[in-house]
Amino acid sequence: MAYWDPNEHEMILANDEVGHDTIIHEMTHAHNDLILGGGLDDRTDEGMAYAMQSFYQLTLLLAANEKLTQKQGCDYRFIHGWWQNFWKMYGHMPSDPGWGTGRTNGRLGGGKFDVDRNDFNNIKKAFGLNLSCKEIAAVINQILQDKKCCFRVTCSGETFPCQDDCWGQISAGFAIDSIFQ
Ligand SMILES: [Zn+2]
Repeated sequence: MAYWDPNEHEMILANDEVGHDTIIHEMTHAHNDLILGGGLDDRTDEGMAYAMQSFYQLTLLLAANEKLTQKQGCDYRFIHGWWQNFWKMYGHMPSDPGWGTGRTNGRLGGGKFDVDRNDFNNIKKAFGLNLSCKEIAAVINQILQDKKCCFRVTCSGETFPCQDDCWGQISAGFAIDSIFQ
């Protein structure tokens, strides 16, 4: 367990086994307190912290998938699996597993909320961080191109394997929220 104490302006750690995602969460509170000067309402503050925490988990999953794609090469079934699963988790909100559920005034057992567009707009403004399917697709497609694979990933459209001389493609599987395009 960890929390940011806005009165003392310090992070309290229950022990040295606090997870990285929790540290990211509390660092977001620290940023909002120290850089933005505090004063955000609890829902806004927690929304940013939960969005950042989930972003961290997202990057771990994405990095692992990218590495495996580098290694596996043109494995259509494998890439089809992780690409669509990734966007099922993170391409829309609310989602669980994915963006998950936040809590206001967490330590005192406050109300649950879903991370929403305002939260993503806030972390984009504060940290310049946003999720873009097109940008991620470009990175994965560069790998597929380098490996001379006959298919590509896309953010929309149909899904079909390569056939004879025709290209195949793997779409995200459903409509990605415009904020994540
Ligand atoms: Zn919090």
